[in-house]
Amino acid sequence: MGYDMIVAGTGPAGLMTAERASMYGLKTLVLEKRAAVTDSLMGELVTDKALNLLRVKPDSEYIGNKFTSIVGESLDTGSNIVVDRTLLGNSYLFDEDKCQELMRDRALADGAEFRYRARVKSVIKENDSVVGVKYGNDQEVKAGLTVGADGSFSRVSETAGFTHPKWLLSYGYRFKLMNCKNVDPNVAYFFVGKDVGLGYLWLYPRSETEMNLGIGRVPSSKENWSRLPPMQDVLRKYMKRHPETENAKIAAVNGGVVPCAGIIPRFTDAGVALCGNAAGQVSSIVGGGVTTCLHAGQVLAKHAKRMVDSGDFSRKSVQLYEKDYRRSKLASNITNTGRGMWAVSKFSMLNDPIAAAEIVLDQLDAKTLNELIQGHASVATYMTLMTDFLPMVAKIGVGYLKAIAMTGL
Ligand SMILES: Cc1cc2nc3c(=O)[nH]c(=O)nc-3n(C[C@H](O)[C@H](O)[C@H](O)COP(=O)(O)OP(=O)(O)OC[C@H]3O[C@@H](n4cnc5c(N)ncnc54)[C@H](O)[C@@H]3O)c2cc1C
Repeated sequence: MGYDMIVAGTGPAGLMTAERASMYGLKTLVLEKRAAVTDSLMGELVTDKALNLLRVKPDSEYIGNKFTSIVGESLDTGSNIVVDRTLLGNSYLFDEDKCQELMRDRALADGAEFRYRARVKSVIKENDSVVGVKYGNDQEVKAGLTVGADGSFSRVSETAGFTHPKWLLSYGYRFKLMNCKNVDPNVAYFFVGKDVGLGYLWLYPRSETEMNLGIGRVPSSKENWSRLPPMQDVLRKYMKRHPETENAKIAAVNGGVVPCAGIIPRFTDAGVALCGNAAGQVSSIVGGGVTTCLHAGQVLAKHAKRMVDSGDFSRKSVQLYEKDYRRSKLASNITNTGRGMWAVSKFSMLNDPIAAAEIVLDQLDAKTLNELIQGHASVATYMTLMTDFLPMVAKIGVGYLKAIAMTGL
């Protein structure tokens, strides 16, 4: 056996798995299809939890900015809701390149090997166990455990035979802007609106003159999607209409795809485990994956160490990672918000989700909204919502039932 572990992909999930596994002394090989770990979209807005998982301080070079409040606003009506730090906890903007380099360098220092321009094509199976991968130009490499941290369209997942019966993808674009004017660097914004579709547009300042402007949307139905303006056009329209950004320069454009329907039914098998987007380990309503990917990478590395020590890479042994992961609070939040997102996507096949979001912005208080987003709203909260938002809830219920009837789900 060549390596203890092969990791496909250097997003936050793969880098954290590699960092921790190398720290535990595992012989780790990382394969990445791109030319470097940097210049990609790692995910930007995070809370204290991500900083703790990454072991970086709020005032360190790894943090690009810190926000004191977050505003949710309708682009169409201007109604808004302000969530301040006391409710949300601290929010930070990562310096993505520096964070990625940090995890890579820690892994390298502990002996991990990185190969770039190394696109994984398929897993190699022997006697129903995954024993390695084929990559690049017909190269093969073997290991006790193969980790698919290769994103939403994971080759490891597909060729190992994992399935996603409820696969709801959110598509996103982000501009990094320079030469902006008079930006308040303390406040981050989320916008909903008719042009945005089922998703949101976000504005995360990096300084008074720089910001990240992005948009993410879930296709609610083919017809609705084709009626919407292209996502990059929505960002450009925002730039034109706001004095802060009308003369700004687009310094970089990134895009990506995030799974939003929760964790997939099974993400481990003999000799193979999925991690991050590949396993649906993303907080569904907001499409936040950094914290959940870093956490999953740590859980996986701990189990990889156990597997290597015992020499047991059987299905049962790898499954212990899945069981442990599913017991975590983050995993149950993903499952709860995944169900919510699935229901919303069904609802919006027959109703106007933006109108519903606008009612929420107009009437819901920030504390309740935060609880719903985080997936830990209490029964009492739901009861209050039923009373206060009965007309909307009834509409959602009817829309959902109609959608179920239509799709047969
Ligand atoms: C526009 C946008 C904005 C976002 N903003 C935030 C945010 O503010 N906060 C937050 O928490 N989350 C955010 N997310 C989500 C977050 O970025 C993802 O959930 C997270 O990056 C997923 O990490 P990952 O390691 O699982 O996969 P990825 O980051 O997708 O990394 C997968 C890696 O695998 C490589 N790869 C793919 N296929 C192969 C192959 N066949 N062989 C070898 N390598 C391969 C890719 O090149 C890539 O490096 C955002 C996502 C998008 C799209």
